Amino acid sequence: MAEPIVIKDADEMQARAREITKGGHSIGFVPTMGALHAGHMSLIERARQENDVVVVSIYVNPTQFGPGEDFERYPRPGDADKALCAAARVDYVFAPESLYHKDSRTWVTVGGLEEPLCGMSRPGHFRGVATVVTKLLSIVRPDRAYFGRKDAQQLLIIEALVRDLDLGCDVVPCETARDPDGLAISSRNRYLTIGERRQALAIPRALQYCRQQVEQGERDAVKLLGEMANILGEQPDLEIDYVALVDAHTLEDLQVLKGDVLAAIAAKITNTRLIDNVRFEGLQ
Ligand code: AMP
Repeated sequence: MAEPIVIKDADEMQARAREITKGGHSIGFVPTMGALHAGHMSLIERARQENDVVVVSIYVNPTQFGPGEDFERYPRPGDADKALCAAARVDYVFAPESLYHKDSRTWVTVGGLEEPLCGMSRPGHFRGVATVVTKLLSIVRPDRAYFGRKDAQQLLIIEALVRDLDLGCDVVPCETARDPDGLAISSRNRYLTIGERRQALAIPRALQYCRQQVEQGERDAVKLLGEMANILGEQPDLEIDYVALVDAHTLEDLQVLKGDVLAAIAAKITNTRLIDNVRFEGLQ
């Protein structure tokens, strides 16, 4: 099994990426914060299929964590991550120790899409995400970059910034990978005890319920939101951050479901914040 080449320096990564592109080879890029799991691997496999060279970045970006969030305790299993990258035939792992210049003063913000949903309880989070993704895309200059639909708001923000700043890569959305019990796979799931995990299953259950209702023709958002909140409310340690039915492009709240719609949930179980969503297209 060929080991990926690990690069820690941004200038070196950028120079290497230029050489690859000059050589006429396409680059597929998967940005991650590490603690790789089957969700990340599905993105990496897709990048492997569609590109000559695959670059995975592993960087726990400090600017997207707020005070009191889990930046310090975020898992960093470096060697296991590298072994998974080797098994998936990743060519380069870009693992910088820091990505910010000492005097860095430039931020990327994507107006309107950063404030709702996760932006309400995580002020500054998406500014950190948008800035680091812009930096990573500028360093790696990929042909295609792969992002998960599990982070639907993040995906929307990245699609907007790539378009607005003419970053010239294709953003490829990838479906949410789930464990067999339905829980969306997340690096944070490893914080959960068995009991907490059982309670967390109310999240995909509420979304699944919503899906069934919508498939049966329900379009009343208020009714659906109430029913989803009831399903979540049955769990004693689950604290709802939001349950939302929004336009999948603007993230604006809907009264009546129509067009492309996102049903999204964020909830905390003890100290672990989990998010999940389902998407409906072209609802009449
Ligand atoms: P993270 O390491 O959490 O920043 O995630 C890196 C990338 O993997 C992002 O594009 C995420 O949306 C994506 N991702 C995380 N979990 C999943 C999942 N369960 N299914 C698909 N993609 C995922």
